Amino acid sequence: MAVPVVDHEKCVGCGTCESLCPDCFKIKEDGKSWVVCDSCEAGNCNCQEVVDACPVGAISLQ
Ligand code: SF4
Repeated sequence: MAVPVVDHEKCVGCGTCESLCPDCFKIKEDGKSWVVCDSCEAGNCNCQEVVDACPVGAISLQ
């Protein structure tokens, strides 16, 4: 089971992760992406695709 983690020091709030996987990522008021699912599977997300799409490499899987 893969759980996505966002490095908020790196995240620039571009919204790519939220568009690809809205059940796992949400841009909040602070302009950063927050993980809102328990796991990629639970969120029905291809998290590896999102990891690869993040322009600043802010997302990892644990
Ligand atoms: S794709 Fe990366 S930089 Fe863009 S909002 Fe998501 S975590 Fe932040």
